[in-house]
Parts: sequence; C-alpha cells; structure tokens
Amino acid sequence: MSVLPPFMLHRPESIGEALEVLSFDDIPVAGGTELLLAMRMRVLRPTSLVSLRHIPGLGGVEVDGAEIVIGGRTTHQAAADSPLIRQHLPILAEVLNQVGNPRVRASGTLAGNLVFAEPKSDVIPILLGLDAHVVLTSPDGTRTLDIDQFIIGPYYSAREPNELLTQIRIPIGHIDRAVYLKYQTMERPTVGVAALDLGTDGDRVRRLVVGAVAERSHLIDFSPSDAISGEAIAAEIEPIPDIAGSKEYKRHVTGVYIDRAVSSLDELAHS
Ligand SMILES: Cc1cc2nc3c(=O)[nH]c(=O)nc-3n(C[C@H](O)[C@H](O)[C@H](O)COP(=O)(O)OP(=O)(O)OC[C@H]3O[C@@H](n4cnc5c(N)ncnc54)[C@H](O)[C@@H]3O)c2cc1C
Repeated sequence: MSVLPPFMLHRPESIGEALEVLSFDDIPVAGGTELLLAMRMRVLRPTSLVSLRHIPGLGGVEVDGAEIVIGGRTTHQAAADSPLIRQHLPILAEVLNQVGNPRVRASGTLAGNLVFAEPKSDVIPILLGLDAHVVLTSPDGTRTLDIDQFIIGPYYSAREPNELLTQIRIPIGHIDRAVYLKYQTMERPTVGVAALDLGTDGDRVRRLVVGAVAERSHLIDFSPSDAISGEAIAAEIEPIPDIAGSKEYKRHVTGVYIDRAVSSLDELAHS
C-alpha cells in the first residue's frame, strides 16, 4: 500500500481548541480507518489532521432524558459494549458487533462512519431506522440534523468544514422489536435490511430500512397490517453494480433479505 503524504497533526484537548483549527484543509481524524485509506490513495490531501483522541467528553455513551447520547469519537466496539446501549438499544449493539473486523470496530467510530457517508454502511441504515439525529458544533454554535438530512449522498454529508460532529442522539422507549440482516461476501455489506416495530398503542408502525445496496438508504413505514413484498420493494431500489454483483443480482438479494427480515420480525412478535 502506498505511503501517507506528509501532514501536520494537531492534538487539541478541548472541543474549543479543535474548533479553532478546523478548516477545509485541516480536518478531524477519529479512528482514521477511512481517512488514512483515502489519504494513501491521494483522494484526500489535508494540510493537517486534528486528532479527537485527547478531547474529554467526546467519548462514551450516556442517557439524557429519553435519548441515548453517543459521543463524537465513540468507537463501534465501545458503543456495542456499553451497558446502556445493550439495555435500551440492543439492536444497535448487535449491528455494531458485525461492523468490519475487530480492528475496524476497535478504532472506527460511529461519527466517522456518518461523516464519511460511505454508502456500504451498516451504521447509517440502523441509525436512520432508530430516528437518530446528529449534533454538529462550530464556532457559531450547534445545529441538529436527522440522519436523513445529514447523509446527502455517497461520500457526501452535510458537515461544514468548521464543524465537529459532537453527539449522536437516539430516542429510546418506542422500539418494540427489531432485526437487522446483512448479506456480505466482501469487506463491507452488499445489502443490509433493518426491520423494526415501533410506536405505542394506537400509533404503531412497521419500518423497513434497506441500506448499503444503493446510493442512499431507503426507509419505508407500513401499518402493522400491511402485507410486505420484498420483490416489490426491491424493484423500487436502484442498486449500485460493482464487484460484489450486478444490479439485477443485488436487486434479487435485496428482495430475499427483506422477506427474511420481515419473517424474523414476525417470529419475534409471536415468540
Ligand atoms: C476493512 C474495513 C471494513 C469495514 N467494514 C464495515 C462494515 O462492515 N460496516 C460498516 O458500516 N462500515 C464498515 N467500515 C467502515 C468503518 O465503519 C468506518 O471506517 C469507521 O466507522 C469510520 O470511523 P473512523 O473513526 O475511523 O473515521 P475517520 O477515518 O477518522 O474519519 C472519517 C471521516 O469522518 C471525519 N470525522 C471523523 N470523526 C468526526 C467528527 N467527530 N466530527 C467531524 N468529522 C469527523 C473525518 O474528518 C473523515 O473525513 C469498514 C472499514 C474498513 C476499513
């Protein structure tokens, strides 16, 4: 693999210090699993990297009111192992335990996954299904965006060059049951399907999110009594053909995985 181009490294010890140096050419690094690859391939060539490693308050997981709050440099493994996530959002722990390999889970972060907006993500579809939102902090203040607003397209998120993603916030208490199934033959998922039963009495929704196969994740809400056809939903999705399969093949696999996810959710509902 090619060597990294030269760069400077900043090690701020607070969010404020980090915000003083961020710019188009001076960009944050969390786990580096995506960024360093992109730099080796000369796709990105920042002047300096702003390490998030020494900033207290950006790591960890906590409960704030009716939301779980995941810090902007919390790794997949730290979140998967968090007793709070295992208690309130077990489906998220399950998904994060399947991301990449142990090295990627130990250093890669949820925030990095979202900001990089790699389409072959398990993290984006499950966070979309869970109604998560992100908090972005800049010298001008903070703003909050839904995942759907934040992920604009492949490798393109709504983060501005002067912003840090400081929190991922996920509402708790409205998920009855959830499953996530992914089909993967290579390093990253070919298709990932989340199926969730959400809501309270009188306001129930069955939600499907199809991720990794197209440029953006696809979310559909059904009433609990609706019949769901994997083939019909897959017909509406435009898979990206690549080395993992043709458009037609991926569309077929998507339909099969939607049907399997819905059956698994039904089994959970009747168990
Ligand atoms: C071999 C391999 C296998 C993988 N398999 C999977 C998989 O199965 N499923 C899956 O979903 N993903 C997979 N991934 C992607 C992995 O999840 C991401 O690499 C990881 O989550 C990115 O986080 P990071 O901390 O390493 O980001 P970095 O590489 O540090 O950063 C990525 C981008 O985000 C920006 N950034 C990071 N943190 C912040 C922040 N707090 N605020 C603002 N900007 C920020 C950086 O500036 C950079 O542009 C895989 C990656 C690899 C290399």
